Amino acid sequence: MSHQSKLSDKSTRFTESVIRGMTQLCLRYNAINLSQGTPAYQPPDVVKAAAIEAIQEGYNQYSITWGAPDFREAIAHKMTTFNHIPTDAAANITVTCGSTEGMLSALLAIINPGDEVIIFEPFYENYGPDTIISGAKPVYVALNETQSVDGVMRFTYDTTELRNAFSTNTKAIIINTPNNPLGKVFTQEELEQIADLCCEYDCIAVTDEIYEHMIYDDKSHISIGSLPQMQDRTITVSGLSKTYSMTGWRLGYVVAPEVLTNAIRKMHDFLTVGAPHPLQRAGIAALNLPPSYYQELVEKYDKNRKRLVNTLRAAGFRCHPPEAAYYIMTDISDFGFPDDTAFAHWLVKEIGVGGVPGSSFYSRPHLGKTKFRFMFSMADDVLIEAGERLMKIKSKI
Ligand code: PLP
Repeated sequence: MSHQSKLSDKSTRFTESVIRGMTQLCLRYNAINLSQGTPAYQPPDVVKAAAIEAIQEGYNQYSITWGAPDFREAIAHKMTTFNHIPTDAAANITVTCGSTEGMLSALLAIINPGDEVIIFEPFYENYGPDTIISGAKPVYVALNETQSVDGVMRFTYDTTELRNAFSTNTKAIIINTPNNPLGKVFTQEELEQIADLCCEYDCIAVTDEIYEHMIYDDKSHISIGSLPQMQDRTITVSGLSKTYSMTGWRLGYVVAPEVLTNAIRKMHDFLTVGAPHPLQRAGIAALNLPPSYYQELVEKYDKNRKRLVNTLRAAGFRCHPPEAAYYIMTDISDFGFPDDTAFAHWLVKEIGVGGVPGSSFYSRPHLGKTKFRFMFSMADDVLIEAGERLMKIKSKI
């Protein structure tokens, strides 16, 4: 029997994650892995203790499928006060297995075959498979580098290109702010423009805000769902993975108007039943951490950001500090490699450092051919060692 012929069309339309592939390559060559966005840090002790306590106290069976009530209360409070989206724990929240599942459940809840979804590129690699699995037709809008202001990298879209991407078939637009891989923070003006188009074309904003607490230089996060005209047409996806360094806990959530939430909860229920119950209990302790936790988080990441930008520039990469998140998108044209993938393999094998080929963030791979992403959620000594290795590039090419 040909097993190949038994595969679904959908399963053949996307490849395995390029980023996880780079991680495997780093393991094979014992390279420092600056590719995958896994935090190098541990969750706070008080949160780990709360998880152990929850298991001892007996929270070991399914929670309510859309989330433990007290965890949803804590999320509702955070959404209302931090994101400025009035949120009712009973009506508007679905707790999911990471924001990854949240995004997919959200799209499965709203997409009919052939519906178009607008995606800014470069994009977080999951959105490609998400559209294929949900049956949406992606329409891409480029984020272009603009003049850097105060030495910080800025990106924006062409307003005509964005307007032209909307049509009567548009069901949704995916926004990722702060953005991975660019570290772009969407401005109030950009979000207002997007909101106006969503209202004009009667479509939904699905927004991934997983890096909402990692913004530098006193900039602040704006949720498109907080704009009054968007309150009944926004699905906000976020989670605890990055902010509390707990990517293995798989805690995410989706906040949406009640009718949309009911549909999202159905998708979520039949995909996963629910997120881990004892960890949801510990998630309450995470969401109750004092403001100083978030300040220290930003200070720690800002130090890494400055260190890695300086290192990369000294090693011959062209780059600017990102506005947010923990990635730096660089330009590798000066090294003279045929493309980003060839560079990625060479860097792991010859230099001992892993990053992500820029093309994997684009629907049109040639747009990312001279780009390369590094992440900086790493311990100081690892970043220093990576820096020493990267300084050898020039002598080896
Ligand atoms: N969204 C973005 C933009 C990401 O960069 C990542 C992880 O790298 C995720 C979502 C995944 O988050 P989670 O662990 O909550 O599934």
